Amino acid sequence: RAKNGGKNQYRFYSNHMKIEINESILVEAELREALNHQELSIHYQPLYDAGTSTLRGFEALMRWNSTKLGHVFPDKFIPVLEQTGLIIPYGEWVFREACLENKRYQVKTGARTIMSINISPIQFKDIHFIKNITSILQEVDLAPEFVEIEITESILIDQFDSIVEKLKELRALGVRIALDDFGTGFSSLSYLRKLPIDTLKIDKSFIDDILIEHHPRMIIASIVSMAHEMKLEVVAEGVETKEQVQYLTKHNCDTLQGYYFAKPQLFELLEEKLGV
Ligand code: C2E
Ligand code: MG
Ligand code: MG
Ligand code: MG
Repeated sequence: RAKNGGKNQYRFYSNHMKIEINESILVEAELREALNHQELSIHYQPLYDAGTSTLRGFEALMRWNSTKLGHVFPDKFIPVLEQTGLIIPYGEWVFREACLENKRYQVKTGARTIMSINISPIQFKDIHFIKNITSILQEVDLAPEFVEIEITESILIDQFDSIVEKLKELRALGVRIALDDFGTGFSSLSYLRKLPIDTLKIDKSFIDDILIEHHPRMIIASIVSMAHEMKLEVVAEGVETKEQVQYLTKHNCDTLQGYYFAKPQLFELLEEKLGV
């Protein structure tokens, strides 16, 4: 294909880029209206204790059903929210809603569930972030220990020291911190010791490999033992099969999350499923 002309190929890329750019402008325009028109919602996925199958809590995941664009995946619209700064108000909305759902659930059931909330680097680095979440927790009357903030390794690329300071401040507040998608970033195990975190979420790509090859299994086993040495809780995400559940439980993974247990869904529907 490369042979029949650099020209065609160039045109292909430039058209492709044009589509991408137009698309993101459209996405942005639609997104600005989405919150007003109630096109955004939050789905929740349960997390379970591997040994006992006790419900550990939930992860909040943003959803966008656009009247014009249809169902848009987070991987497509979160970057646009980030580029436009809209992630700050929208992220705050998710944080408040998710805390409210967890509070309601706790009051209703007496369970000590933890709500996990994804935080974009833009949101995390915002100077008002800690102040905002502190006031939301007060407003909702939810103890900070029942909230877990999920960040990814990408946040650590620059300003490592100031990020660590902020993480310490958050933990002093009593909020839990999870490192999400672990293993997909720059994955240096040495920096992990310097991070004030509570939880390590092993990325789905490693979980997928469990039943296929020998090598990734070794990786999971060593991640778990290393994390436990550091007193971290280990969560496996994207668990889809019974075999994965058995393998991860046998290898001391603490917490499991994935379609095997439940897909992310509206809180009401999840409660029904949980028999609440
Ligand atoms: P994440 O935080 O790593 O979330 C886990 C993703 O895996 C979710 O995708 C979830 O639906 C999916 N998942 C869970 N279990 C399974 C499984 O068994 N099989 C498969 N195939 N997938 C599974 P989703 O909801 O599309 O979200 C994608 C990413 O978008 C999230 O990855 C997170 O990084 C980001 N995101 C979602 N909601 C928010 C939000 O409110 N704020 C921010 N900043 N980012 C968000
Ligand atoms: Mg997450
Ligand atoms: Mg993840
Ligand atoms: Mg992810």
